[in-house]
Amino acid sequence: MTLPAHVPVLIAGGGPVGLTLSALLSAQGITNLVIEADERYCTGSRAICMSRRSQEILGWVGADQALVAKGLSWVGGRSHWRHTEVLHFQMPSEPTQRFAPMVNIQQFYVEEFAHRAAQSVGRSEVQWASRVSAVTPHEKGVDVEVITPEGAQTVHADWLVACDGGRSTVREQLGLQLEGTQYEGKYVIVDVVQKTQRAVERLAWFDPPSNPGSTILMHRQPDDVWRIDYQIRDDEDPLEAVKPEARPSPGSRCGSRSTTPSASPCRATGTGV
Ligand SMILES: Cc1cc2nc3c(=O)[nH]c(=O)nc-3n(C[C@H](O)[C@H](O)[C@H](O)COP(=O)(O)OP(=O)(O)OC[C@H]3O[C@@H](n4cnc5c(N)ncnc54)[C@H](O)[C@@H]3O)c2cc1C
Repeated sequence: MTLPAHVPVLIAGGGPVGLTLSALLSAQGITNLVIEADERYCTGSRAICMSRRSQEILGWVGADQALVAKGLSWVGGRSHWRHTEVLHFQMPSEPTQRFAPMVNIQQFYVEEFAHRAAQSVGRSEVQWASRVSAVTPHEKGVDVEVITPEGAQTVHADWLVACDGGRSTVREQLGLQLEGTQYEGKYVIVDVVQKTQRAVERLAWFDPPSNPGSTILMHRQPDDVWRIDYQIRDDEDPLEAVKPEARPSPGSRCGSRSTTPSASPCRATGTGV
């Protein structure tokens, strides 16, 4: 596809932030172009818990109905230390409030709903499988070099918005630092398909008997998926930890390494570190 020579707003990155911004700008009548490195929405397990505030923002562009219909809302959670439940919390939530405090939903659904909202207005395009590679600011606007499957093209934009994630090319091009604190810790993420009647709530285990010294987080998601995050030791190799033999096998009981909701058969669908 030949990119336009000029756009009012170019959005680098079509993740949840970039696609939501695209929908918001479109709703305001502002034409925009999203450049996304991947070929489609993200795959696998990434952000899974949407706050009420994020739901409200998606509501501004009409993407909330699909989100609420698909997502699993929750108001509280439980924390355990070893065998003992040490905290059972409930977040403020009134029946009259439009959104629950949190809703669990896979990130690719959020991206799809935001994208659909942008498409319904018709003022935006997403250029998939293309990367912003160079940024040259001018007094009026910015020249953005984009590597597309057909080759490099340059688009002049009045505004460029960096929605290209934690390792942003735009920030790197402009010499901008992302400031904040960070800590080291390696986690394995496993998605397990298992039907359950268990309540939707945030579940955490600290120093659990199955993984002494570590932490396990567990969230129920749509499509009968349980997302399990467990911390591995500093001396453990993350790549070894996600090998199939280190994961629960189909038909096995998944409780040996990570705590699971019940002892019925389950299937691991994806892993990440
Ligand atoms: C394995 C994993 C697990 C995670 N788990 C959680 C979690 O449990 N809870 C949570 O809150 N968050 C989690 N996150 C983080 C969450 O995914 C991000 O916070 C969220 O996606 C941020 O949205 P974003 O749109 O700002 O950035 P991203 O989702 O990172 O989107 C940025 C987009 O920009 C694209 N891009 C990057 N560079 C370029 C470029 N040069 N040109 C064009 N496009 C580009 C990328 O392909 C990507 O689609 C997880 C992330 C990963 C990777």
